[in-house]
Amino acid sequence: MDDCIFCKIVRREIPADEAYRSETAVAFHDLNPQAPVHVLVVPTVHAPGIVELPNDASVAMLAEVAHVIGLVAEPAGHRLVVNSGDHAGQSVDHLHFHILSGRQMGWPPG
Ligand code: 5GP
Ligand code: ZN
Repeated sequence: MDDCIFCKIVRREIPADEAYRSETAVAFHDLNPQAPVHVLVVPTVHAPGIVELPNDASVAMLAEVAHVIGLVAEPAGHRLVVNSGDHAGQSVDHLHFHILSGRQMGWPPG
């Protein structure tokens, strides 16, 4: 997608503080972190959400996401978040997994 900000990060057209990159997924630090460590993991294929993922890409992508979580997760715990659609407050329409860690989290989320 030409005007998608996360596609631009995937294509290295705009800078990001990258933590991990492969053909399947890119992890980078959130511009507006909500925890001491706040990393976003995005598939390199554009899809607004998990339901729109092409079937042939989803298994490899989810395996890669699990791998990245293992790399960045803090020993004291982390929270994995996917905001999907308006009610969840999704603001970038490219599927992304938030990995938050480094502080105590509340439940339920607001
Ligand atoms: P959402 O609200 O869609 O679940 O999350 C979007 C996230 O993307 C937000 O946490 C926001 O701070 C982050 N974000 C938006 N634009 C950029 C950007 O250009 N670079 C980075 N690194 N993060 C961004
Ligand atoms: Zn995109």
